[in-house]
Amino acid sequence: MATLEVKNLHVSVTDDETKQTKEILKGVNLSMKTGEIHAIMGPNGTGKSTLSQTIMGQPGYTVTEGEILLNGENILEMPVDERARKGLFLAMQYPAEIQGVTNAEFLRAAINARRPADDQISVMDFIKKLDHNLALLDMDESMTERYLNEGFSGGEKKRNEILQLLMIEPSFAILDEIDSGLDIDALKVVSKGVNSMRGDNFGSLIITHYQRLLNYIVPDTVHVMMGGKIVKTGDAELAKKLEAEGYAGLRDELGLDV
Ligand code: ADP
Ligand code: MG
Ligand code: MG
Repeated sequence: MATLEVKNLHVSVTDDETKQTKEILKGVNLSMKTGEIHAIMGPNGTGKSTLSQTIMGQPGYTVTEGEILLNGENILEMPVDERARKGLFLAMQYPAEIQGVTNAEFLRAAINARRPADDQISVMDFIKKLDHNLALLDMDESMTERYLNEGFSGGEKKRNEILQLLMIEPSFAILDEIDSGLDIDALKVVSKGVNSMRGDNFGSLIITHYQRLLNYIVPDTVHVMMGGKIVKTGDAELAKKLEAEGYAGLRDELGLDV
């Protein structure tokens, strides 16, 4: 069993233009283990992406207080690739292009980066696994020979992120708005992929603005983030309640001024 813990996390960002620094996360606490799917919901601009970027170690986010522990080990000083090797996976809101690297090359390298030098995946096993997952996601084989994300449509990028997830098999996946811009068919495919990962060796933190995704990937725990903090935690019913009453309803209920 793997664990991911965020403790009293405070994060600031500096605006490139105005050079003003502002605190975005104001003491986030979150604890999860493999086998669990957690969702974070919240209004726009509340710090959800800041949390996912900070867990992954993207530059530009300054941790001023608190810690992030992966299996009890503080990962804050580790660069992104080391966090990935340790089992974290971030599906980005806007996946980047990597020029000159095919999708298949990227996937094999990413899988092997998580395996010891004397236990690299064989070409045969890689192709078998790739074919299996392509079929599951209803993706064309030609996608894997294309350069990573180059000229991919928004929907193709999302599907490809889920292919990466299935191939790399991280301990924890942070899925930041994987539902944004997806039509219902693509949403179903993406959900099927994530659900196929469910099990004792996998945990996921699903970040979404809308409840719709959570009809397909039913979370064990739902957290609501507002004003840079988690203000409420509950089960899947909490997401439905939010859908019905809106964030404003919860704000009133909790007497929040954010
Ligand atoms: P959410 O994902 O909940 O919509 P974000 O984490 O993207 O929220 O943003 C929270 C706040 O932090 C916003 O006010 C946003 O403008 C600001 N912010 C996020 N990242 C940066 C950055 N790199 N530089 C400046 N401001 C940022
Ligand atoms: Mg946003
Ligand atoms: Mg966001």
